[in-house]
Amino acid sequence: MLPTEPIGSIPRPAALIEGIRDFGAGRISQPELDALYDSAVQDTIQRLEATGSPVITDGEQAKHSFATYSIFGLENTSPDGMPISFADGHIRTFPRLTSGPFRYRTPADVYLEIAQRYAHVPLKQAVVSASALSLLYPQGGIRGYSREEYLDALIAEQEGEIRRCLKKGAHVVQTDFTEGRLSIKLDPTRRLLHSFIDLNNLVLERFSAEERKRIGVHTCPGADRHSTHSADVDYAELLPSLFELQATNFYVQLASEPDRTRVLKLIRDHARDGQRIFVGVIDPLNPRVETPEEVRDRALEAAGYIRPDRLGTTDDCGFAPFSDDTSRTRETAFDKIRARVAGTALASTVLGLG
Ligand SMILES: [Zn+2]
Repeated sequence: MLPTEPIGSIPRPAALIEGIRDFGAGRISQPELDALYDSAVQDTIQRLEATGSPVITDGEQAKHSFATYSIFGLENTSPDGMPISFADGHIRTFPRLTSGPFRYRTPADVYLEIAQRYAHVPLKQAVVSASALSLLYPQGGIRGYSREEYLDALIAEQEGEIRRCLKKGAHVVQTDFTEGRLSIKLDPTRRLLHSFIDLNNLVLERFSAEERKRIGVHTCPGADRHSTHSADVDYAELLPSLFELQATNFYVQLASEPDRTRVLKLIRDHARDGQRIFVGVIDPLNPRVETPEEVRDRALEAAGYIRPDRLGTTDDCGFAPFSDDTSRTRETAFDKIRARVAGTALASTVLGLG
């Protein structure tokens, strides 16, 4: 069968969102909050397994957000860093580093270990890219802690995080690179994009070719509260550079693209030998649940441009990359994932793989 994988996040249960609020207001204790995280992870894994998905995640139930989980709660950050604007006008503000030295507080392998207590099928683990966290360092610098020192520490932290996830048995480690497409909006000369690619390759190059077979990269235009941050950036500006990343698996948002054929041609022309492309066949921002037949047709459309032995399917993005995003329900997310799995099986049969 064609491989099929989720991206990562699932909307949190109402009880957990309430618990996070209560914890912030001092109404419940850390052990009480941890118990809520634990039961959300357990329930999410159970329900993801019930969709038949051959690879699952923990739904990122305990991550504050896909981008800030490792640094959330660090005392040397403040909440007033770089603003990220979404198309509907809302803004997510990235934290800012205030002093060195830099260390992760909660690396992703901590979440993996918890999920492994409950999972019966392979678990993938998403990590945030070094390039996203590079935005933590303020433009004006930090006295006594240079940008170079920061980046060295960041690269070491991310290498350690990925290496531990691989060692602990993650099916694959997926680097979330949503800021790739966004960077072209911030800097149309694409110098920022190239610096992001170079930085991420400094991390990826620390792994052997064998290890990199279990390392992937996710690209998307963002997905938060019904909105995106960079869907208006032309994919042709991003994709040729994206495949320069020294990773094997690429998870590419595609279902919501207005001209999928054009994107598939770009992938065909620019993906490198040995790279596997998981195309997005589910649009998490659209509340309508896709049918298995739609998913099948999208996978077969992609198979016209990408050889089946280099193809897989995925969702365009996570279903709630930020923990407080309730714009989609858990039920919709699981229904969509069920459609992805069923539709991918149908496509596999047509392609003679099933
Ligand atoms: Zn995404």
